[in-house]
Amino acid sequence: MEVKIKNTVISIVQGDITRQETDAIANAANARLAGGGGVDGAIHRAGGPSIMEECRKIGGCPTGQAVITTGGNLKARYVIHTVGPIYKGGAAGEANLLKSAYLESLKLASARKLRSIAFPAISAGAYGYPLEEAAHIALKTSLDYIGGDTGIECIRFVLFDKKLYDIFCEELRRLL
Ligand code: ADP
Repeated sequence: MEVKIKNTVISIVQGDITRQETDAIANAANARLAGGGGVDGAIHRAGGPSIMEECRKIGGCPTGQAVITTGGNLKARYVIHTVGPIYKGGAAGEANLLKSAYLESLKLASARKLRSIAFPAISAGAYGYPLEEAAHIALKTSLDYIGGDTGIECIRFVLFDKKLYDIFCEELRRLL
């Protein structure tokens, strides 16, 4: 599914984020930038060890913030590592932290003059965020961000499985 709003295309695809050719891909990292399972593991495996070397030099990233490394062997030139919240029931500021993870990633992409970025469903795996709410925050934050002079022409959500793909499409239709 794809929509164009102002100067930005928002697209939702089912697939593997490590294969995207956007200027940057976002990684659902942990606060130590230590690598792990899920999408984080897949990105480091596909991108090679130089990404982890850069992560070690950066040292860490607080929840809700974002940092950038080059993309190693990936097609994407950059990886924006952002840290979503671990879902603990919803009363621990999770929604604001998840919103911030997307927003800080988008701002970092704009600051680096990148034109396209692909996101996985941050916090929607091991971190346990309810899927509909995670999709809502991802899409609402992106829709609110575009429109100004962001320089971003394409925001792509890359969902690994059909269930989450369907949830993202439904949520985008609801928001439009
Ligand atoms: P978190 O710890 O932030 O929850 P996870 O990596 O556990 O991060 O999961 C986030 C989402 O990324 C999940 O929906 C998972 O299915 C998905 N995912 C895992 N591997 C990939 C991949 N290669 N491309 C895109 N999405 C992926």
